[in-house]
Amino acid sequence: MRTTVGIIGAGPAGLLLARLLHNAGIDSVVLEARDRAYVERRQRAGILEQGSVDVLRAAGAGERMDREGLRHDGIELRFARRRHRVDFPTLTGGRSVMVYAQTEVCKDLIALQLKEGGPLLFEAEALAVEGVDGHSPRVRFRHEGSEDVLECEYVVGCDGFWGVSRKAVPAGLSRVFEYTYPFGWLGVLADVAPSHDELVYARHDRGFALLSMRPPATRHHPSKEVASLPIESFVSRLYLQVPAGTDAEEWADEEIWDELERRLETADGWTLARGPITSKSVTPMRSYVHEPMRHGRLFLAGDAAHIVPPTGAKGLNLAVGDVVTFARALTHQQETGSDDLLDAYSETCLRRVWQAERFSYEMTTLLHRAPDATPFDDRMQLARLERLTTSRAAETDLADGYTGFPLE
Ligand SMILES: Cc1cc2nc3c(=O)[nH]c(=O)nc-3n(C[C@H](O)[C@H](O)[C@H](O)COP(=O)(O)OP(=O)(O)OC[C@H]3O[C@@H](n4cnc5c(N)ncnc54)[C@H](O)[C@@H]3O)c2cc1C
Repeated sequence: MRTTVGIIGAGPAGLLLARLLHNAGIDSVVLEARDRAYVERRQRAGILEQGSVDVLRAAGAGERMDREGLRHDGIELRFARRRHRVDFPTLTGGRSVMVYAQTEVCKDLIALQLKEGGPLLFEAEALAVEGVDGHSPRVRFRHEGSEDVLECEYVVGCDGFWGVSRKAVPAGLSRVFEYTYPFGWLGVLADVAPSHDELVYARHDRGFALLSMRPPATRHHPSKEVASLPIESFVSRLYLQVPAGTDAEEWADEEIWDELERRLETADGWTLARGPITSKSVTPMRSYVHEPMRHGRLFLAGDAAHIVPPTGAKGLNLAVGDVVTFARALTHQQETGSDDLLDAYSETCLRRVWQAERFSYEMTTLLHRAPDATPFDDRMQLARLERLTTSRAAETDLADGYTGFPLE
């Protein structure tokens, strides 16, 4: 098998890259280790920055997102039983974010790829990436019980944190920067309308809590033609800070609701609507960056190169930024013969990656309570939150980071 760009992984990074290359007239093959149903059901991110929304629309993959996604113009911060709304458009010159789940982004991109794009092989596990120092890199993979080789001009590793592509960078050239947080997120999906129409980020002495939401399944709204479904039709996505290593099954459903209620409580009588919990899982929290993001003809994109804690909703958006940067660089190369932008790939992506790492770290340490937090640390957090509610400069910085750093 032979192609111009071998893409490993059909998460958001790999699928969007295949679409961008298809639109630019560049052929690719996508290898995905799991089956289609698994990829389409994996619950993960849910917030698209303005820049990601624009990219999906321009790629012809925004039609259902515009119909079913929910534009959000702000978030609410809660602390000391108070609430403070951060209004994005006012602070950022009109920018906002879109609530549209990663599962739906993947479904849309898979449907487009199978209809119009190049080969997308499910249950095709990449075993190794070879020859990236030369002109003809190869991906060895296993598909339908036998081993095969994909010959390429370029390989893009979009295979997430646990993939194989990063291993093709010689250990002596790799630099890893990482931090593991001493807590994780217990996330639940609940079949009940969200109790607030925007995301609520709560800092509490017992730990962080987040109220979020997901669009309903399309099949419930087959005739919906107008933009954005009503908030009442959404389901609740809720998170609690829990100690690292917690087993989700340790938490009974009623205990989860009780704890959410405690951490999200306000002095003005706001109430939390309860409903049946349909899924429950724990996500560990880490910050991780692998440098460089390119070695020879291998380019790393998305979680294969970096991980952020989910607090700032940056993971999926960083993946979008990386593949847009690669697609632009390769298009430039094909049109002009110049490798300049490909050579600058790692540096260009890393500038944005580190800003997202900083933002995610700051949001995480602002809102989560470390197990060894002292009374001084608590007061510091409250002072930082107080500052956000009283200084337009501080609030603008938050709104700017949340709605996204520009693509160069
Ligand atoms: C449990 C969890 C919860 C998350 N929650 C949030 C959130 O709430 N908000 C947020 O912003 N971000 C969240 N993230 C991060 C966000 O989902 C990721 O940043 C995003 O998925 C990155 O996309 P990606 O395409 O780079 O990687 P992935 O989505 O991980 O996709 C990688 C793909 O490669 C495939 N693959 C792996 N190895 C191979 C191989 N050897 N051969 C072929 N295919 C392979 C995998 O099966 C997968 O389909 C979460 C991540 C996790 C793990």
